[in-house]
Amino acid sequence: MALRRYVVGNWKMHGLSSDIPEIAAIASASAGSPGVDAALCLPATLIDRAVKSVPGFSFGGQDVHREDKGAHTGCVSAPMLLDAGASLAIVGHSERRSEQCETDEQVRAKAETSLKAGLGVILCIGESLEVREAGQAVATVQAQLDASLPQGDGAAAGVLAKFAIAYEPIWAIGTGKVASPADIGEMHAALRERLVAAYGDAGNEVRILYGGSVNAGNAAEIFSVPDVDGALVGGASLTAEKFVPIVEAAAGQ
Ligand code: PEP
Repeated sequence: MALRRYVVGNWKMHGLSSDIPEIAAIASASAGSPGVDAALCLPATLIDRAVKSVPGFSFGGQDVHREDKGAHTGCVSAPMLLDAGASLAIVGHSERRSEQCETDEQVRAKAETSLKAGLGVILCIGESLEVREAGQAVATVQAQLDASLPQGDGAAAGVLAKFAIAYEPIWAIGTGKVASPADIGEMHAALRERLVAAYGDAGNEVRILYGGSVNAGNAAEIFSVPDVDGALVGGASLTAEKFVPIVEAAAGQ
């Protein structure tokens, strides 16, 4: 069964109040593809302003702490993101795994806390170039998924509808290199298998996004691969000119 497509921009450490008109342009042009769920994950500092300026569009954070509050200088919790008007959060992005040394266990806790709080979650996983070249990509990413998947109340019926996976080969992020359709298809099928093993039928409802140098020129081919339910987009999400054609490709326009 085809799932509703989901196209999410990850603005990373980009975005000031002067970018609100660009965000509004992305939101209004994305509304022209009503069959697609579009969202932007912004710096935490910009979420409240974006929500107030562009009501009705989905905004998210790019990370979230595993606890609701406490002595964690510089961190942002799920209740804080919800309070700012966010409806989702990315967890486990490879830049956080490498720069902040985040482990699968921490990523799983972040996903569970966020889903329990009512946020949607996009859980990122992906292999390094060394792992891909050693022929270990599928086994490695499946193991990463198994270790990061939310359990217990964080995976209760109903909660999983807000949960998505983003397969992002690390070597494809921000490099202009894209995994081949065959490799994407093989990986997404292998991840679907693990989701069903973990959650039964509900695992078929979890959307699996591809991320890594998606742009207007390659999006349609990527979306034609079975089990690709959307995209997580970095560089090409910063302007309406680059992002909206990806949303339109997801809609099959
Ligand atoms: C990302 O950072 O999640 C990403 C996919 O970036 P880019 O599209 O720039 O490769």
